[in-house]
Amino acid sequence: MAQKLALLYEGKAKKIYRTADPGLYLVEFKDDATAFDGAKKGTIRDKGVLNNLISEKFFRLLEEHGVPTHFVEKVNEREMLVRPLDIIKVEVVVRNIVAGSLAKRLGMPEGTPLSRPVLEYYYKSDELGDPMINDFHIQSLELATPDQMETIREIAFKVNNVLLDYLAERDIDLVDFKLEFGVCRDQIMLGDEISPDTCRLWDRKTGERMDKDRFRRDLGHVEEAYAEVYRRLAGD
Ligand code: UDP
Repeated sequence: MAQKLALLYEGKAKKIYRTADPGLYLVEFKDDATAFDGAKKGTIRDKGVLNNLISEKFFRLLEEHGVPTHFVEKVNEREMLVRPLDIIKVEVVVRNIVAGSLAKRLGMPEGTPLSRPVLEYYYKSDELGDPMINDFHIQSLELATPDQMETIREIAFKVNNVLLDYLAERDIDLVDFKLEFGVCRDQIMLGDEISPDTCRLWDRKTGERMDKDRFRRDLGHVEEAYAEVYRRLAGD
């Protein structure tokens, strides 16, 4: 088993450690939660455990569908091994239904279906609060090459198709989600996590929110919602 060495980076929800193997990093999922650029802080009991389980499920599913991801294996309740990536400083959001910042920006009610998926880019910068950018900014700031962005777009829509179908079978609407990408040995790969922290997931029958909006908006039953997502993915 890869040995956990120096802490490389601590983010809001995860810690990344070096391991004895230079080709493997260890990700530890924390229970800490933040929202509104860190203005709201809290903990969600067992979130780290559930996000580790849920991300593992999604990464394995996507790998089965030919999507390259940084996921290698889950090592224990809160930790997974991943491939080290050179992170591309562009956060990619895919939307199927209007919610959150899009509802505000366009003055549309949350829950309005989009006639086709919408792709958005945000500049990954905590200091700036991840401002929205477009292809021109990305090229001008040299955040990624045009070829890399084409691959990223293709992967983002593929992820959307795979997750939409998989979640629909489990009575969950995939409203929107955020992806991060990086480069490992010249290959673009999906990084970060895919969990109720980074996706909006609505119960198909009741419309109930099963994601971080329960924390952001003080809706209560946050732990239960994350656990229910995992229960449906695990199929028991
Ligand atoms: N999201 C994320 N990290 C961010 C910003 C957004 O994971 O820093 C996810 C969020 O959970 C949602 C989607 O990206 O699933 C779209 O978020 P939106 O732009 O509506 O922003 P929000 O309303 O979350 O501020």
